[in-house]
Amino acid sequence: MRVYELSAQNRILSVSDNWDPFARTNGGADALSHAVLGRPIWDFVSGLDTRSYLNALIFATRNAGRKVSVRYRCDGLAERRLFQLQIEPLEDNAVRLSHLPLEIRSRRKPASAPPPGAQVCCGQCLRWRQGSTWEEAEIHHALAPQGIDFVVCPQCRTEAQRVIDALGCLRAVH
Ligand SMILES: [Zn+2]
Repeated sequence: MRVYELSAQNRILSVSDNWDPFARTNGGADALSHAVLGRPIWDFVSGLDTRSYLNALIFATRNAGRKVSVRYRCDGLAERRLFQLQIEPLEDNAVRLSHLPLEIRSRRKPASAPPPGAQVCCGQCLRWRQGSTWEEAEIHHALAPQGIDFVVCPQCRTEAQRVIDALGCLRAVH
């Protein structure tokens, strides 16, 4: 489980002890703890949609003074991985974000590259946009020959809004 804490200004205050081994495998030198401490979380979250989504959840946590959690996928090439992001309020408007693995399963067949052309993927549930619908697919963004546009799909937005509404906080996820 990876855990980190953010200051009231959303700067990274601390990271869990297991941070650096994970960073070496997945993010390289730029992601090591000494390189991320003190920096704004937004330096590490790409895409306006995903930033808005995360910001709304963090805001709601602080506003309500209660923890929230949402599920998300973060697959590897050989594995489908389901995680839970839990955000807890701390003293002085700080928050703690914990990424808990819920389920890790080997893929039945290896992931393939997305088809050519502009592709849009939900960064939370990893479904791909097909016209007006969002579909599961055994494809992985790391194999894409071109950039992938990561957004937050309507279903994941709705789910986050439901979580926020349950706190009694009215800020919308947009
Ligand atoms: Zn989604």
